[in-house]
Amino acid sequence: MQIEFKKVPFSKKNFQINYNLVNFEGTFCKMSQELVKIEATISGTLETICSRCGKDINLTLNENIELIVSDGVYSSDEDTELDIVETYDGILDFDDILNGELESIKSDYHICTECMGDSQMLEKEF
Ligand SMILES: [Zn+2]
Repeated sequence: MQIEFKKVPFSKKNFQINYNLVNFEGTFCKMSQELVKIEATISGTLETICSRCGKDINLTLNENIELIVSDGVYSSDEDTELDIVETYDGILDFDDILNGELESIKSDYHICTECMGDSQMLEKEF
């Protein structure tokens, strides 16, 4: 799903997209001509691999995200703790944003239940 920056309203609008088994839904609205705020939930199941043994695992997602999409380089002087996503073609692309979020979730450390069992046994041995 894509929407042109200039068509994004200043009042909150709902959106919802699905990607495989992942559901991405929430609201978006303009904060200024160049900035759009997204408040959303990512839920569902994401396939990834165990960081230790490489086995396929399914992560159950339930993440609240809040981020700002900037049309062009983000140049506000205001400090923000929100994640900033910059885009350069004047398009707000929800699929891109979701993919970015999923990649960052995948890059976290995830281990399968077997490896989890291993490390618990190791801890008991010590
Ligand atoms: Zn494993």
